[in-house]
Amino acid sequence: MQTDIVLFSELCDELFKAEINQPVVDHIPTSKLYEQLDLSLNENGLLDNELVNILKDIIAKTPKTASKRFFNQLFGGRIGKATLGDLLSVMFNNSMYTYKVAGPQVGIEKQVLRNISKLAGYDENANGTFAPGGSMSNLMALVMARDAKNEYIRSKGISRKMTLYTSEESHYSIAKNAALTGIGRDQVKLVKANEKGEMLVSHLIELIEVDINNGDVPFFVNATAGTTVLGAFDNIEEISAVCQSYNLWLHVDGAYCGGVIFSKKYKHLVDGLEKSDSFSVNAHKMLGTPLSCSIIVTKHKGQLYESFSNDAEYLYQTDGDDFNLGKTSLQCGRRNDALKIWTLWKSVGTSGLEKIVDKQFELAAYSRSYIINHKDYKLHSFEDSISVCFSYKDISAKDLCTSLYEKADLMVGFGKHNETEFVRMVTINTCLDKTDIDDFFIVLEAHVAENMLKKPVG
Ligand SMILES: *Cc1c(COP(=O)(O)O)cnc(C)c1O
Repeated sequence: MQTDIVLFSELCDELFKAEINQPVVDHIPTSKLYEQLDLSLNENGLLDNELVNILKDIIAKTPKTASKRFFNQLFGGRIGKATLGDLLSVMFNNSMYTYKVAGPQVGIEKQVLRNISKLAGYDENANGTFAPGGSMSNLMALVMARDAKNEYIRSKGISRKMTLYTSEESHYSIAKNAALTGIGRDQVKLVKANEKGEMLVSHLIELIEVDINNGDVPFFVNATAGTTVLGAFDNIEEISAVCQSYNLWLHVDGAYCGGVIFSKKYKHLVDGLEKSDSFSVNAHKMLGTPLSCSIIVTKHKGQLYESFSNDAEYLYQTDGDDFNLGKTSLQCGRRNDALKIWTLWKSVGTSGLEKIVDKQFELAAYSRSYIINHKDYKLHSFEDSISVCFSYKDISAKDLCTSLYEKADLMVGFGKHNETEFVRMVTINTCLDKTDIDDFFIVLEAHVAENMLKKPVG
């Protein structure tokens, strides 16, 4: 094992160098993947040095999400202390279901959940868990809401049509989860959004009224704190009033930008959060931990337990349910996702996490001002968002992003709102500085001049 740790450290050095020397790796067409890299699995094993050579090839060709040219997704960068925590959890290899096998790691997870609940404005009746991603956090919220509406569904199944509401800008996991839970995709009512991508509350009420008149059972509203494309925040205060009057569970999907709860300057974007029934946030997005680190908290700890506990004599043999976290989780065996956020939080403090969040908005504002001040660009996104959406010289966003990727210049993606397609640059990597943002535009403009504007000769 010791030699593998030395090897690991050596491979990390290789990766760090590659991130600087080739921040965007040469694109391998999928049809050439197995030719260009030896990914085969064979009867006989390899010697260490042969294995190392193959691993180095793989390092060279794997997309570099911590590089300064990666703006493609709702995560990016690498914060040392968070990575350290995650590496340690791999070494411990606990499973989070019981105190017996995870010990203090359970205390660490509970501490993070308690602090997140508090920041969400929930009281001591709150609890939560770590789910394998924001989609699964949303699934857990949906299950709790379903069971809160009708406690017999757990055993008998669904017998009446139940309807739920989410904006047309929300994450696709809401529809997928409706299918998984037996609620049905057709029961997901898409609420219209305004031009900024925020849910239209008047349309929400209309949809609910129609369903009630049809004899269906509305039970759940999903509000989004940071929509996946535009980074818009639904108005939780207004939506919670609707949920209260119709007795609906309100979940706030903060997978992308729920991290604003750490910022004095930006937490107003989730005003009313304390009135929600559940709230999820991906620490692997705004808070910069490695994937995955998804937290869901609910105001109703009893409901979390009711929906997710199951007896298992072979597993729960010591300590109380409070410390046997398998009684409130989606999975049985579960990796330790808490240590990375705890290690980061412990090292920089709550004020350090606030700085991480604020810097993303600062970088976004800086990017927007560049776009506004350069006439070849058009801005499609808004203030208070770390998704910076724009078009350049009326070039198709899809063509531009694909060309940047294939020529290994930049990793950035595109999105769509109201039939307009645009580049979506995400300023979520707090290891970047303003000069890196300048470089982004320099590289993009040079790329266009070089590859996309050349007139055919003759
Ligand atoms: C990213 C995202 C999710 C899904 O989170 P995963 O961890 O990728 O499953 C859900 N909702 C929103 C708004 C997101 O941006």
